Amino acid sequence: MKIVGLTGGMGSGKTTVCNLFLEKGVPVYNSDLRAKWLMNHSDALKHEIQLLLGSDAYTVSGELNRGFVSNKIFQDNALLTQINNFVHPAVFNDFELWKNQQKTPFVLKESAILFESGGNLFCNYVIAVVGDLETRIKRVMERDKLSREEILSRMQHQWKDPQRIEKSNFVIYNQGHISELKEQVDKVYQEILAKT
Ligand code: ATP
Repeated sequence: MKIVGLTGGMGSGKTTVCNLFLEKGVPVYNSDLRAKWLMNHSDALKHEIQLLLGSDAYTVSGELNRGFVSNKIFQDNALLTQINNFVHPAVFNDFELWKNQQKTPFVLKESAILFESGGNLFCNYVIAVVGDLETRIKRVMERDKLSREEILSRMQHQWKDPQRIEKSNFVIYNQGHISELKEQVDKVYQEILAKT
Protein backbone atom coordinates (compact mmCIF):
# COMPACT_ATOMS: atom_id res chain seq x y z
CA MET A 1 0.00 0.00 0.00
CA LYS A 2 1.28 3.43 -0.94
CA ILE A 3 1.17 6.40 1.43
CA VAL A 4 0.33 9.69 -0.23
CA GLY A 5 0.90 12.79 1.87
CA LEU A 6 -1.38 15.76 1.26
CA THR A 7 -0.30 19.14 2.48
CA GLY A 8 -0.92 22.84 2.04
CA GLY A 9 -1.01 26.04 4.05
CA MET A 10 -3.85 27.20 6.25
CA GLY A 11 -7.04 27.58 4.22
CA SER A 12 -5.52 26.17 1.03
CA GLY A 13 -8.32 23.59 0.75
CA LYS A 14 -6.69 20.39 2.02
CA THR A 15 -9.82 19.10 3.72
CA THR A 16 -11.95 20.04 0.72
CA VAL A 17 -9.59 18.08 -1.56
CA CYS A 18 -9.47 15.14 0.88
CA ASN A 19 -13.25 14.97 0.84
CA LEU A 20 -13.13 14.61 -2.95
CA PHE A 21 -10.68 11.70 -2.56
CA LEU A 22 -12.93 10.19 0.13
CA GLU A 23 -15.81 10.24 -2.37
CA LYS A 24 -13.63 8.03 -4.57
CA GLY A 25 -13.16 5.56 -1.72
CA VAL A 26 -9.64 6.66 -0.73
CA PRO A 27 -9.19 6.46 3.07
CA VAL A 28 -7.99 9.74 4.58
CA TYR A 29 -6.06 10.19 7.82
CA ASN A 30 -6.32 13.76 9.08
CA SER A 31 -3.11 14.27 11.09
CA ASP A 32 -4.15 17.62 12.52
CA LEU A 33 -7.48 16.31 13.85
CA ARG A 34 -5.87 13.14 15.19
CA ALA A 35 -3.17 15.23 16.91
CA LYS A 36 -5.93 17.19 18.66
CA TRP A 37 -7.73 13.95 19.56
CA LEU A 38 -4.56 12.41 20.97
CA MET A 39 -3.82 15.54 23.00
CA ASN A 40 -7.21 15.04 24.63
CA HIS A 41 -7.17 11.26 24.99
CA SER A 42 -3.63 9.94 25.27
CA ASP A 43 -2.68 9.86 28.95
CA ALA A 44 1.03 9.76 28.15
CA LEU A 45 0.79 12.82 25.89
CA LYS A 46 -1.40 14.73 28.37
CA HIS A 47 1.14 14.08 31.08
CA GLU A 48 4.03 15.37 28.93
CA ILE A 49 2.10 18.50 27.92
CA GLN A 50 1.19 19.27 31.53
CA LEU A 51 4.79 18.88 32.61
CA LEU A 52 5.84 21.34 29.91
CA LEU A 53 3.07 23.95 30.10
CA GLY A 54 1.65 23.50 33.58
CA SER A 55 -1.72 22.26 34.82
CA ASP A 56 -3.57 25.15 33.08
CA ALA A 57 -2.97 23.31 29.79
CA TYR A 58 -6.06 21.23 30.66
CA THR A 59 -9.43 22.21 32.05
CA VAL A 60 -10.73 20.68 35.28
CA SER A 61 -12.70 18.18 33.19
CA GLY A 62 -9.48 17.10 31.43
CA GLU A 63 -10.02 18.81 28.06
CA LEU A 64 -7.10 20.54 26.34
CA ASN A 65 -7.27 24.27 27.06
CA ARG A 66 -6.73 25.21 23.41
CA GLY A 67 -6.69 28.99 23.87
CA PHE A 68 -4.09 28.79 26.62
CA VAL A 69 -1.91 26.30 24.73
CA SER A 70 -2.11 28.20 21.39
CA ASN A 71 -1.18 31.47 23.09
CA LYS A 72 1.82 29.89 24.74
CA ILE A 73 3.24 27.92 21.85
CA PHE A 74 2.67 30.41 19.03
CA GLN A 75 4.57 33.06 20.99
CA ASP A 76 7.50 30.84 21.88
CA ASN A 77 9.26 28.82 19.20
CA ALA A 78 11.13 26.68 21.72
CA LEU A 79 7.86 25.58 23.34
CA LEU A 80 6.33 24.90 19.92
CA THR A 81 9.29 22.67 19.07
CA GLN A 82 9.03 20.81 22.38
CA ILE A 83 5.30 20.21 21.98
CA ASN A 84 5.91 18.99 18.43
CA ASN A 85 8.55 16.58 19.71
CA PHE A 86 5.85 14.96 21.86
CA VAL A 87 2.95 15.12 19.44
CA HIS A 88 4.61 14.05 16.16
CA PRO A 89 5.75 10.59 17.32
CA ALA A 90 2.31 9.96 18.87
CA VAL A 91 0.62 10.83 15.57
CA PHE A 92 3.15 8.75 13.63
CA ASN A 93 2.33 5.64 15.71
CA ASP A 94 -1.39 6.29 15.51
CA PHE A 95 -1.16 6.61 11.70
CA GLU A 96 0.71 3.28 11.42
CA LEU A 97 -2.04 1.49 13.38
CA TRP A 98 -4.74 3.09 11.22
CA LYS A 99 -2.94 2.38 7.94
CA ASN A 100 -2.57 -1.31 8.77
CA GLN A 101 -6.36 -1.57 8.87
CA GLN A 102 -6.86 -0.14 5.36
CA LYS A 103 -7.16 -2.27 2.25
CA THR A 104 -6.91 0.15 -0.66
CA PRO A 105 -4.03 0.65 -3.15
CA PHE A 106 -3.20 3.93 -1.45
CA VAL A 107 -4.20 6.06 1.54
CA LEU A 108 -3.96 9.81 2.06
CA LYS A 109 -2.22 11.36 5.03
CA GLU A 110 -3.38 14.95 5.37
CA SER A 111 -1.15 17.34 7.32
CA ALA A 112 -0.72 21.10 7.18
CA ILE A 113 2.88 20.67 8.32
CA LEU A 114 3.85 17.48 6.47
CA PHE A 115 7.22 18.88 5.30
CA GLU A 116 7.85 20.89 8.47
CA SER A 117 7.39 17.77 10.62
CA GLY A 118 9.43 15.49 8.32
CA GLY A 119 6.32 13.36 7.72
CA ASN A 120 6.98 13.55 3.96
CA LEU A 121 9.95 11.21 4.45
CA PHE A 122 7.49 8.39 5.17
CA CYS A 123 5.30 9.06 2.12
CA ASN A 124 5.66 7.53 -1.34
CA TYR A 125 4.24 10.66 -2.97
CA VAL A 126 3.18 14.10 -1.83
CA ILE A 127 0.34 16.27 -3.12
CA ALA A 128 0.47 20.00 -2.38
CA VAL A 129 -2.73 22.04 -2.40
CA VAL A 130 -1.88 25.66 -3.12
CA GLY A 131 -3.71 28.93 -3.54
CA ASP A 132 -3.42 32.66 -3.49
CA LEU A 133 -2.58 33.99 0.00
CA GLU A 134 -5.37 36.59 0.16
CA THR A 135 -8.02 34.03 -0.85
CA ARG A 136 -6.75 31.66 1.84
CA ILE A 137 -6.82 34.36 4.52
CA LYS A 138 -10.37 35.35 3.52
CA ARG A 139 -11.56 31.73 3.65
CA VAL A 140 -10.06 31.11 7.10
CA MET A 141 -11.42 34.42 8.45
CA GLU A 142 -14.90 33.34 7.35
CA ARG A 143 -14.53 29.75 8.55
CA ASP A 144 -12.84 30.26 11.93
CA LYS A 145 -13.79 33.85 12.80
CA LEU A 146 -10.10 34.65 13.35
CA SER A 147 -8.50 38.04 12.69
CA ARG A 148 -6.11 38.59 9.80
CA GLU A 149 -3.26 39.06 12.32
CA GLU A 150 -4.01 35.77 14.09
CA ILE A 151 -4.02 33.91 10.78
CA LEU A 152 -0.78 35.52 9.59
CA SER A 153 0.90 34.71 12.90
CA ARG A 154 -0.02 31.02 12.54
CA MET A 155 1.03 30.97 8.88
CA GLN A 156 4.46 32.22 9.93
CA HIS A 157 5.18 28.75 11.30
CA GLN A 158 4.33 27.06 8.01
CA TRP A 159 6.24 26.73 4.77
CA LYS A 160 5.32 28.92 1.78
CA ASP A 161 3.76 27.53 -1.40
CA PRO A 162 6.91 27.72 -3.61
CA GLN A 163 8.76 25.47 -1.10
CA ARG A 164 5.88 22.98 -1.04
CA ILE A 165 5.57 22.97 -4.83
CA GLU A 166 9.26 22.28 -5.26
CA LYS A 167 9.16 19.22 -3.01
CA SER A 168 5.81 17.74 -4.10
CA ASN A 169 5.04 15.13 -6.76
CA PHE A 170 1.61 16.60 -7.55
CA VAL A 171 0.23 20.11 -7.21
CA ILE A 172 -3.46 20.98 -7.00
CA TYR A 173 -4.31 24.65 -7.57
CA ASN A 174 -7.32 25.76 -5.57
CA GLN A 175 -7.98 29.19 -7.01
CA GLY A 176 -11.38 28.92 -8.60
CA HIS A 177 -14.56 26.93 -8.52
CA ILE A 178 -14.92 23.55 -6.79
CA SER A 179 -15.57 21.94 -10.20
CA GLU A 180 -12.00 22.86 -11.26
CA LEU A 181 -10.74 21.24 -8.09
CA LYS A 182 -12.68 18.09 -8.89
CA GLU A 183 -11.10 17.84 -12.35
CA GLN A 184 -7.61 18.08 -10.86
CA VAL A 185 -8.40 15.49 -8.17
CA ASP A 186 -9.69 13.07 -10.86
CA LYS A 187 -6.44 13.47 -12.79
CA VAL A 188 -4.14 13.06 -9.78
CA TYR A 189 -6.19 10.07 -8.55
CA GLN A 190 -5.73 8.30 -11.90
CA GLU A 191 -2.01 9.11 -12.02
CA ILE A 192 -1.45 7.73 -8.52
CA LEU A 193 -3.49 4.59 -9.24
CA ALA A 194 -1.32 3.99 -12.32
CA LYS A 195 1.75 4.05 -10.07
CA THR A 196 0.40 1.58 -7.47
P1 ATP B 1 -6.82 24.43 7.45
O1 ATP B 1 -5.42 23.99 7.25
O2 ATP B 1 -6.87 25.83 7.93
O3 ATP B 1 -7.65 23.50 8.26
P2 ATP B 1 -7.65 23.54 4.80
O4 ATP B 1 -6.43 23.65 3.96
O5 ATP B 1 -8.06 22.18 5.25
O6 ATP B 1 -7.55 24.52 6.02
P3 ATP B 1 -10.35 23.84 3.88
O7 ATP B 1 -10.94 23.72 5.24
O8 ATP B 1 -10.56 22.72 2.93
O9 ATP B 1 -8.81 24.21 3.97
O10 ATP B 1 -10.84 25.17 3.17
C1 ATP B 1 -10.88 26.41 3.87
C2 ATP B 1 -12.26 27.05 3.70
O11 ATP B 1 -12.39 27.47 2.36
C3 ATP B 1 -13.42 26.10 3.97
O12 ATP B 1 -14.46 26.81 4.57
C4 ATP B 1 -13.81 25.61 2.56
O13 ATP B 1 -15.15 25.25 2.50
C5 ATP B 1 -13.50 26.83 1.72
N1 ATP B 1 -13.06 26.49 0.34
C6 ATP B 1 -12.05 25.66 0.00
N2 ATP B 1 -11.89 25.61 -1.34
C7 ATP B 1 -12.82 26.41 -1.86
C8 ATP B 1 -13.18 26.81 -3.19
N3 ATP B 1 -12.53 26.36 -4.28
N4 ATP B 1 -14.21 27.67 -3.36
C9 ATP B 1 -14.86 28.16 -2.26
N5 ATP B 1 -14.59 27.85 -0.97
C10 ATP B 1 -13.58 27.00 -0.77
